[in-house]
Amino acid sequence: MFSDKNEFKQGFLQKLERMYGKTFPESTVQDQYFTLGQMIREYISTNWIQTNEQYRFSDSKQVYYLSIEFLLGRLLRQNLMNLGIYDVVQEGLNDLGIDFPEIEEVEHDAGLGNGGLGRLAACFLDSLASLNLPGHGYGIRYKHGLFEQKIVNGFQMELPEQWLRHGHVWEVKKPDLAVEIPFWGKVESYMEEGKMKFRHIHAEVVSAVPYDMPIVGYKTSTVNTLRMWSAEPAAYKAGRDLMKYKRETEAITEFLYPDDTHDEGKILRLKQQYFLVSASLRSIIGSYLYRFGDLHELHKHVAIHINDTHPVLAIPELMRILVDEYEFEWEQAWTVTKNTFAYTNHTTLSEALEKWPIRIFQPLLPRIYMIIDELNERFCKELWNEYPGDWKRIEEMAIISHGQVKMAHLAIVGSYSVNGVAKIHTEILKQREMNLFYQYYPTKFNSKTNGITHRRWLLNANPALTELITSAIGKEWVHTPSNLQQLTKFSDDAAFLEKLYEVKQKNKQRLADRIFKQNGIKVDPHSIFDIQVKRLHAYKRQLLNVLHILYLYNRCQEDPNYDFPPRTFIFGAKASPGYFYAKKIIKLLHTIADLVNNDPIVNGRIKLVFLENYRVSLAEEIIPAADISEQISTASKEASGTGNMKFMMNGAVTLGTLDGANIEILEQVGPENIFIFGLNAQEVMKYQQNGGYYSMEYFHHDTRIKKALTQLIDGTLPGADDHFETIYDSLLAENDQFFVLRDFDSYVRIHEAAGNAYKRRDDWNQMCLNNIAYSGYFSSDRTITEYAEDIWKIK
Ligand SMILES: *Cc1c(COP(=O)(O)O)cnc(C)c1O
Repeated sequence: MFSDKNEFKQGFLQKLERMYGKTFPESTVQDQYFTLGQMIREYISTNWIQTNEQYRFSDSKQVYYLSIEFLLGRLLRQNLMNLGIYDVVQEGLNDLGIDFPEIEEVEHDAGLGNGGLGRLAACFLDSLASLNLPGHGYGIRYKHGLFEQKIVNGFQMELPEQWLRHGHVWEVKKPDLAVEIPFWGKVESYMEEGKMKFRHIHAEVVSAVPYDMPIVGYKTSTVNTLRMWSAEPAAYKAGRDLMKYKRETEAITEFLYPDDTHDEGKILRLKQQYFLVSASLRSIIGSYLYRFGDLHELHKHVAIHINDTHPVLAIPELMRILVDEYEFEWEQAWTVTKNTFAYTNHTTLSEALEKWPIRIFQPLLPRIYMIIDELNERFCKELWNEYPGDWKRIEEMAIISHGQVKMAHLAIVGSYSVNGVAKIHTEILKQREMNLFYQYYPTKFNSKTNGITHRRWLLNANPALTELITSAIGKEWVHTPSNLQQLTKFSDDAAFLEKLYEVKQKNKQRLADRIFKQNGIKVDPHSIFDIQVKRLHAYKRQLLNVLHILYLYNRCQEDPNYDFPPRTFIFGAKASPGYFYAKKIIKLLHTIADLVNNDPIVNGRIKLVFLENYRVSLAEEIIPAADISEQISTASKEASGTGNMKFMMNGAVTLGTLDGANIEILEQVGPENIFIFGLNAQEVMKYQQNGGYYSMEYFHHDTRIKKALTQLIDGTLPGADDHFETIYDSLLAENDQFFVLRDFDSYVRIHEAAGNAYKRRDDWNQMCLNNIAYSGYFSSDRTITEYAEDIWKIK
C-alpha cells in the first residue's frame, strides 16, 4: 500500500485526483478527508478479508455482541493509530500543507448511542480486536444518531443529527447479504408427519440490509467487523399502499431513541429490537452452518451476548428458528438456547426495566409471543416444583404477568450468565432487585466491572500525557496497562511532577481556547477545572453541583474577602427531549452562569461554562483538561459509570459518592487520592425502605440551603421570566428523592478540602500521578479478558 511518507503522499494525490477530478490546490478539506478515509479503508481491507477468512474456516468459538447502541465517535485517528501509520500519514499531510486536526474535524461522530451503555459497546469492540479475539458486533445503522443539541437562550433545542449526510467512509454496504424480517400477520398451525407445526402468515416483511464497519485492532492484523442493519422495503407485493409501506419500513432505522433509562412504550422501539435480533441471528446462523452444518452444538461454538435487555428477543427468536425451521424438539432447542446467551444488566432503576404490554407485543410479533408464553408456562411449572404453593414468588418471577412481558426476566431465564457492571451494582442486583432469581440461580450471577479503552481515552485523546508516560516507563504499558503502576516510582520526583503539571496546563489552555471561541467566556487556565460531563439525569445530580455554585456565589456576596482558589465549573449534558425536569436543570445552569460569570464581586473567581452538544469527540477534548472529576450520583443509582474512569486515566482527581465504579477507583488509588462524600448506598436504601428523611428539615436548619432554594423562586435570578418552581418542589414538596439536600453539607466540605489540596501544588500533582498510575485496572482490555475467560470461553 504505502510504506513511507513519500509513497503515502503520492498515493494520496493520485487518489484525490481520481476521486474528485480536481488537482490538489483545488480540493477542499472535505475532499481531502474523504480521500484519506478511502485510502485507509483500502489499506485495512487486506487484513479485514484475511480475518474474515480465518473465522470462516476456523472451529474456534466466536462471540457475537448484540447492542441497540454503539457510540463510536470518530474513527480516523483511532484507525491510523491502531494501524500504526499515524505518524507517516500526519507527516505526509504536513508536507502537503494540510493540518491533520483540521481534516479530523470533517468527520462526524458516529453517535449511535445515548451514553455509557453505547460507549461501553464501542470500547469492547476495540478491546476484542486489539486482544485478537473473535468478537463480532451487531447493531442498528440509525440514519440519525443522538440529536444535536443547540442551546438557545439557555434552553436546549434538538436538531436531527446528520452523520450520513456526506456518506460514511468506514462502512461497506452488503446488499447481497440482506435478510427478510416479518412483522404483524398471524400464526397458523398445521400437521406434518403427525407433528403440530406453526407458520407465520400474512406478515408484512421488511428487508434488513447490512453495512459492515471494520474494527481495527491495535498493532495487530486482526480486523473484526461491526455489522449494522438498515431497514429497506422488501419485494413489492400487489395491493399494498407502496408509499405508506416505504415510509413505515424506513422509519424502523430512522432514529435512535434518545433515552435508555426509561421504558419506551412505543411499537417502533419494539420493532427496532426484533429487527436487530432477527437479522443478526440469521447472519450468525448462516456463518455457523457454513462452518459446522448442524445446529445441535451451536452453544459449544458460539456465545451471543446481549447488552442490556434491548436485544433479549434473540432468545425466543433462536427458539423459533430451531423449532420451526430446523425441526428441533422443544427441550433440545431450549438446551442449546439457554447455553448460548449471556446477559449484562445495566441499571437498578426499576423504571428502566423494560416491560411490554401484551396488547402491543402480541399483534406485532405473534409467533415470538407464543414462544415466550410457552417459556413462561414451563418456567412457572418449574418454580412450582421448587416452591410449591408460593404463588406470590412465582408471580413475581414470571416472564409474563399483569398483562406485561418482563424483558429482564426473559433474559435471566434464557441465558447462562447474568452480570452486573461493577461490584456494588452486582451486589445490589443479587441482594435486592433480582434477589429471587439469585436464590433460584445462584451460580448464574457474576460481576464484570466496566472499563474503557485506554487507546482512545489516553493515547488518542491525550498525546502529550502519553508521551510523558512513555518517556518515564517505556512503552510496554500500552499493551499491559497495569504497568502504569510503575509511574509511582516518580511520585517524589519533583521534576517529573512539574512536567505532569505542564501537560495538564497545556490541555487546560487548549480547552480554555475552545471555550472562548465557542461560548465567548474567558476562563483562567490556572483556576481549578472542575468538570461534570454526562447525560443529564436527576440521579446524576447536576443539581447538587449547581446549588453548590450558587452557594459559593452567595458566600462571595456576604464576604467579599472570602478566600478560595478560583474555579471553573464546566458542564456538558444532553437531556432527553421529553424529560422536562432535566431540561429545567439545563436552563438553571445557564441562569446561574449569567449570574456569576460577570459579577464584579465574584471577580472571575467562579466561572460556569456549559459546552453544548456533549459527544465523544468533545469528551476527548474536555477530559484531558480536568483537575476535578465530578461523579456525584445518589449512591446506589449509578450502575458503574465509565466517565469516572476516563477522567482518572487522564490524571483528574475524583470528587464523588461511594457509588458504582467510584468505589473501585477508591480501592485502587486509596483514600488519600480521592475525595469521597455523602450517603453510601446502604444508607440511601435504608431511607428508601424505612423512611426517616425529611428534606424540609435540611431546608429549615441550613441557612445556605434555604437561601439558595429561595433564590430559585423569588425572582433574584436573572431572566425572571423563568422561575424554577419545578425544581424547588422536587426538593421540598416531593421530599428530594435523590437526597440532594441531605448530601449538601458534606459536598460543600469536600469541595473545601479539594480546594485546599489544590493549593499544595506538589501534593496535588502527586495525586494526579497516582490516579494515572492506578487506572490500568479500568482498561477495557482487563474487562474483556474477564468476559472472554469467565463467560464466553473464547481465545
Ligand atoms: C463515557 C461517556 C458517557 C458516559 O459517562 P458517565 O459519566 O459514565 O455517565 C456518556 N457520553 C459520552 C459521550 C461518553 O464518552
